[in-house]
Amino acid sequence: MTPQQFFRPEILADRAYHVPTAEGMIKLDAMENPYTWPPEMISGWLDHLRAAHPNRYPDPQAPALKQALRSYAGIPAGSDILLGNGSDEILLILLTALVGQEEIKVLAPEPTFVMYRQIAHWLDIEFIGVPLQADFSLDAEAMLAAVKTHSPRIIFLAYPNNPTGNLFETALIEEIVKTTPGLVVVDEAYAPFAQASFMDELGNHDNLLVLRTLSKLGLAGLRLGFLAGPQKWLEQFDKLRLPYNINILTQLSAEYALSHIEMFQQQTSRIREDRELLARKLSSLPDIEVFPSAANFILFRVHEASRVFEALRQQGILIKNLDPCGGLLRNCLRVTVGTPEENRRFIEALYRILAVTPIESGPE
Ligand code: PMP
Repeated sequence: MTPQQFFRPEILADRAYHVPTAEGMIKLDAMENPYTWPPEMISGWLDHLRAAHPNRYPDPQAPALKQALRSYAGIPAGSDILLGNGSDEILLILLTALVGQEEIKVLAPEPTFVMYRQIAHWLDIEFIGVPLQADFSLDAEAMLAAVKTHSPRIIFLAYPNNPTGNLFETALIEEIVKTTPGLVVVDEAYAPFAQASFMDELGNHDNLLVLRTLSKLGLAGLRLGFLAGPQKWLEQFDKLRLPYNINILTQLSAEYALSHIEMFQQQTSRIREDRELLARKLSSLPDIEVFPSAANFILFRVHEASRVFEALRQQGILIKNLDPCGGLLRNCLRVTVGTPEENRRFIEALYRILAVTPIESGPE
C-alpha cells in the first residue's frame, strides 16, 4: 500500500503546520512572552527539578500541579480540571470524543484560532464557521441562527479571539451558552492579558467549559494547558487522555513557576502596558487600521500587507502575515508585543518600510 492509498485525499492535500524559522530574528509571530527569568529563579528551578525521577512514569493525576493551577486560575470549588500537553491537545481530546457519531457538527466564529477547524478536519468532523462582523465582533443573529440550524455538539469561542485580539460581547456569549444544546468551550488562552474571564460562570451552566494554557503566561516551551468545567463532563473526556500526557519535567517546572507567580504577573502587566504604547505608535502611522486588543498581540491592516511583512522579514523582524487567509483578514498583519527594545525596532522598521518620518517620539 502506498501513502496515497493509505491517507484520505483531504489529508494528502494538506500541508503540515508550518513554523517559520526565526533564527537570529526578532520573533514577534507566536504570542510568546519575551522575558526570561532572573538567575536566582533559574537556580531555584533547577534545584526543584532534582526531585524528578526520569526512570519512572509521571503521576497521571498530577495532584500538586492541579492544586497550583486551581488557585492560580481561580477554578471554582465545584469544577473539575483536566490537563493537556498544551491546550492544543485538549482540543484534540474534545473533538476525539465526537468521532464515529452520526451527523456531528462543531462551530466557531471565523476568523479564529485555526486549530478548531484543523483538528475537526483531521478527524473528519464537520466544522461550521460563522463569519464575524467587519469590526470582528460576533454576529449575534448569524450565530444564534447557526446554533439553531446546526445544533453543534461543541462551540468554540476564543476569548479574547486570535488573531483579532478582541473580546466578544459577554451577554451574547451567555445567550449562546443558554441556547445551544451542546457544549460551549470558552478558550481563554490570552487570559493573562485580558482581565476578563468566564471562570466564575462555571458553576452557573452545566454546558460551559473554560480552556486555558500556561503558554502565553510565559511557559510555552513546557506545553501545559488545562480545561475547567463540570465533573460529569470532564470525567468522560479524561478517558480519552493519554495516561502520561504531562511529563515529569513539565509538572515540576509548572509547579515551581506557579509558586513564583508574582514574577509572571509583573511580566504580563508590563506586556499589557507596552501593548497600549505599541498600539498608539502604530495608530500614529498614516493609512493603517489598528484593532483593539485584550491579548498580547495587535492586529493591524495596512496597504500591501504581504509586501510589508516581507520587508519586515528582510529587516530581521518576524511577525504573522494573515493576508493569505483572505476575507476579513485581507491586508492584516499580527504582531506580538515584545520587549520595549523589540517593539521599538519593529516600529522603526515599519516607519522605514512605509517611508514616513515618526510623528510622535514619546517615551518607550
Ligand atoms: N487557543 C488559542 C486561542 C490560541 O491562540 C492558542 C495558541 N496560539 C492555543 C489555544 C494553543 O495554545 P497551547 O497549545 O500552546 O496551549
